[in-house]
Amino acid sequence: MEPVLYITVPCYNEEEVLPETSRRLSEKLEGLISAGRISENSRVLFVNDGSSDGTWDIIAKLHSENRLIDGIGLSRNRGHQNALLAGISESAKRADAIISMDADLQDDINAVDKMLDKFSEGCEVVYGVRSSREKDSGFKRGTARLFYKFMSMMGAEMVYDHADYRLLSKRAAEALEGFGEVNLFLRGIIPLIGFKSDKVYYERGERFAGKSKYPLKKMIAFALDGITSFSVKPLRIICGVGCLMAIISLGFLIKAIVDHYTGNAEIGWPSLMCSIWFIGGVQTICIGVIGEYIGKIYGETKHRPRFIIDKKLIHHDDSSE
Ligand code: UDP
Ligand code: MG
Repeated sequence: MEPVLYITVPCYNEEEVLPETSRRLSEKLEGLISAGRISENSRVLFVNDGSSDGTWDIIAKLHSENRLIDGIGLSRNRGHQNALLAGISESAKRADAIISMDADLQDDINAVDKMLDKFSEGCEVVYGVRSSREKDSGFKRGTARLFYKFMSMMGAEMVYDHADYRLLSKRAAEALEGFGEVNLFLRGIIPLIGFKSDKVYYERGERFAGKSKYPLKKMIAFALDGITSFSVKPLRIICGVGCLMAIISLGFLIKAIVDHYTGNAEIGWPSLMCSIWFIGGVQTICIGVIGEYIGKIYGETKHRPRFIIDKKLIHHDDSSE
């Protein structure tokens, strides 16, 4: 029996790209179905992440015209990661393998074939990894590189240059649901699932229409989430900085005593001002970092649902509408 493949795509205000994306994806599925590689019950599942434009109407239209297209709509905008999780969880009910990708098809959809090869070799997690970032803007490339470097320095295990383009087996997707955290950072969680995994490489293209839904502000929030959800190293660094400062101030004390006895003591208000501001700044930063973690704990203890599905458009396996 060929596996049932679901390609799940989070969409936030993607009306400009959806018709083309769905055309290319259903072409891809049809090709794979007629080649006998996947079951004809395979689908594309669009997740509308509370878009404020006509995204849902387009999904509904595509669903009514094409038996390969399904859609679910979240009750409001919950962000990329939650939308992805919603798509993966919904797909896992019917699929043997689930591939997630962005609506703008920046990720080369031909890597799907290679992912399926790995899946048939028994891999349960297949990471799509960018072979180059030439098509990204210099700024995006630079910040992304910095982000991965920083994450690995902070001790979070991540696959370099892998975004959220990946294949999960049904078993891996179900295991993912066991990670109950509200602060979702899938790139950090997936490696923790374990199972046999592999990587496939692809060229990343440009967004063919519409604007990026990840402005700098969202990117920084995402990076902060990633760090504080996966590492307590910042807290440890704070302790280290504290110790270092204590040692430095001890040095100053010794110098002051020596100066006093050698008669070199100065009226030192500039140095005093500097140190007060410095210590004050460091303390405030430290409190801020601790506050970030407390904020995380606060979010997690409430166990709020990570997404709420409002609407569903699902073709049943034997329907041909
Ligand atoms: N996205 C989403 N919810 C959001 C923001 C983005 O579902 O709140 C989706 C978006 O529709 C796209 C994917 O996340 O499918 C990645 O966004 P985008 O391509 O704009 O990010 P970039 O490639 O610029 O990092
Ligand atoms: Mg994109």
